[in-house]
Amino acid sequence: MRLILLGPPGSGKGTQAAQLAQTSGVPQISTGDLLREERAGATDLGKQAAAYMDRGDLVPDELVLEILRARVSKPDCAEGFLLDGFPRTVPQAEALDAILQGLGVQLEAVVDIEVPDAEIESRITGRRSCPACAAIYHVVMQPPKTAGECDRCGGALTQRSDDSAETVRNRLRVYHEQTQPLIEYYRTTGCLH
Ligand code: ADP
Ligand code: ZN
Repeated sequence: MRLILLGPPGSGKGTQAAQLAQTSGVPQISTGDLLREERAGATDLGKQAAAYMDRGDLVPDELVLEILRARVSKPDCAEGFLLDGFPRTVPQAEALDAILQGLGVQLEAVVDIEVPDAEIESRITGRRSCPACAAIYHVVMQPPKTAGECDRCGGALTQRSDDSAETVRNRLRVYHEQTQPLIEYYRTTGCLH
């Protein structure tokens, strides 16, 4: 199975991808998570990406493509992958087409998750996650049993640095300008849902 999850930040791409990864056995590839790992490891790439991410802007295509290419070439992707947060620009989608062609494989589907902007803002500003096991919560809609503590592993929940109200508005603007055109891009390939 090779799937793209498309949709605005906070639409639930990551949550759906994690559930699909569990039932299907193919890995979830989140470029946001991969970039956050690069930052945590203070790699050159991570340092270059940091400022863009904190503003809620897209990281330049070359940097994202570098980590995406490396990730989809790993052996656990042989049977497929769930792309969560990639592609986000038309040039990224074109590069992905070339990568897939090189691997001799095809996309099965692009699933676009539509959520209104007002809903996104309340979802994201209430989002909390567990750095230890990656579980995701919402202070109102999906609170942990004990405030601030992960149900699954007891870890201390944190808020992503780019989940502030101001940065979320920029991420939504960037989504509408740069990522939404992908809906038309994939509509023509016939596998958009
Ligand atoms: P969300 O979907 O909630 O915005 P992500 O975790 O997918 O969050 O992405 C966080 C940030 O990482 C983005 O705001 C952007 O700066 C960067 N990023 C992630 N994926 C990409 C991508 N495909 N292209 C460019 N930047 C990306
Ligand atoms: Zn946890």
